[in-house]
Amino acid sequence: MSDINNFLATVPTGLWIDGTSTTALEGGSFPVYNPATGAVLAEVADAAPKDALRALDSAHAAQAEWAATPPRARSEILHRAWEILIERTEDFALLMTLEMGKALGESRGELNYGAEFLRWFSEEAVRIQGRYTDAPNGTGRILVTKEPVGPCLAITPWNFPLAMGTRKIGPALAAGCTMIVKPSEDTPLTMLLLAQVLADAGLPAGVLSVLPTSRSAALSGELISDQRLRKVTFTGSTRVGSVLIGQSAAHVQRTSMELGGNAPFIVFDDADLDAAVDGAMAAKMRNGGEACTAANRLFVHNSVRAEFTARLTARIAAMKVGPGYETSTDIGPLINAKQRDAVADLVADAVAAGARVETGGAPIDGPGFFFAPTVLTDVPDSARITREEIFGPVAPIYGFDTEEEAIALANNTEYGLASYFYTQNLDRAFRVARALQAGMVGVNRGVISDPAAPFGGVKASGLGSEGGTEGVEEYLSTKYVAFTQ
Ligand code: ADP
Repeated sequence: MSDINNFLATVPTGLWIDGTSTTALEGGSFPVYNPATGAVLAEVADAAPKDALRALDSAHAAQAEWAATPPRARSEILHRAWEILIERTEDFALLMTLEMGKALGESRGELNYGAEFLRWFSEEAVRIQGRYTDAPNGTGRILVTKEPVGPCLAITPWNFPLAMGTRKIGPALAAGCTMIVKPSEDTPLTMLLLAQVLADAGLPAGVLSVLPTSRSAALSGELISDQRLRKVTFTGSTRVGSVLIGQSAAHVQRTSMELGGNAPFIVFDDADLDAAVDGAMAAKMRNGGEACTAANRLFVHNSVRAEFTARLTARIAAMKVGPGYETSTDIGPLINAKQRDAVADLVADAVAAGARVETGGAPIDGPGFFFAPTVLTDVPDSARITREEIFGPVAPIYGFDTEEEAIALANNTEYGLASYFYTQNLDRAFRVARALQAGMVGVNRGVISDPAAPFGGVKASGLGSEGGTEGVEEYLSTKYVAFTQ
């Protein structure tokens, strides 16, 4: 633990504004907890709305020069930051495990994934293109250019403390936008350390600010009501996302929204059952189930349901629960007591409605916010868990008989983020991939996120894409220049 304390003493805890770590104007700080013990890890400066205006002044002042910085120079800063992140893998992995709880192996995975957004967008920075054509009637020329949208606000959640930031920061900086990041109050330390890495990589002062706060709504409200801010990019709940969309209407700011999910995971009777069980473990238990892409509803063909349930239950029951920084741990705690209690309520509601607990089913006593990895069967339609996002290590398994029924069940949700299915039939693979109402479909795989692919949802799951070639477009506006010659 003394190594951990020595390391924590090196992590910045001030607001990051205008290229320096600073205290909040009104003073004050708030605690960040270790979810494995409930103990305080650090006290972090608590940004007030006035601090938000300081950050916006600085982002606005830096905007023109950053936009005019050669794409190659922007690219090289992002690339250097990627290199530093990789060099500092163990520091970032430990920090994410400490403040978020996930097992160290998963934190290392997030470091690679999160850093890759900086490398990917360093490569995109030099490939932002417009076009030039003749007007069809011969009277002029059409020149189309892309310009940065301007200063952006990014609001990020706690479940991926690094990657949810880098997949917004990477494309914004590549496009030539400045950005203010408001990290989750549960996990602000990773983002503060990232700001230092970007500064070490050569990012000019003012281009990026990081504002931890215990008053998220007041801070974001102050920024969105200022017309100098030109974009809001958010990852979090649909409830907060729709509030932000409403607020951004006043100044017609651009929005990108990565919101809730209720992912179906379908196992057809022609699936490779070993692969499907592996995939279900990944889709359900990765990040302790605290992911918007997490499989929320497992639909298994009735002819293989008993076999699949037995195999998945054995795997889930064998998971070792503990602090993420212990090497034997497969699955860490939930983020906080509120989240643990919300998961416990969903399970209790399902059980009261008649669901059967195959394994787990309850919180684990002791310090920290642990919940036993759980499998539920015979869950009736009336249970809340059939409709609500679980965000925890609970796998409800449902049966079905026909492909049409599986698709109808999968689409019977207001959400449309990730979806997964297992089949060895090629025709069925194309048919089902088309029929699923989701922004992302995993075919015979349980992990789909990739910095080179567009991540995003339909319906109440959001607007826009992050990653891929699409990701940078979210930070660009289109200008048409008309010529007569
Ligand atoms: P989750 O349930 O995953 O915590 P939230 O949508 O509550 O999702 O939180 C995601 C992010 O949004 C966090 O950074 C949080 O601080 C922030 N947030 C929560 N409520 C508001 C709000 N009313 N306005 C702006 N940001 C908010």
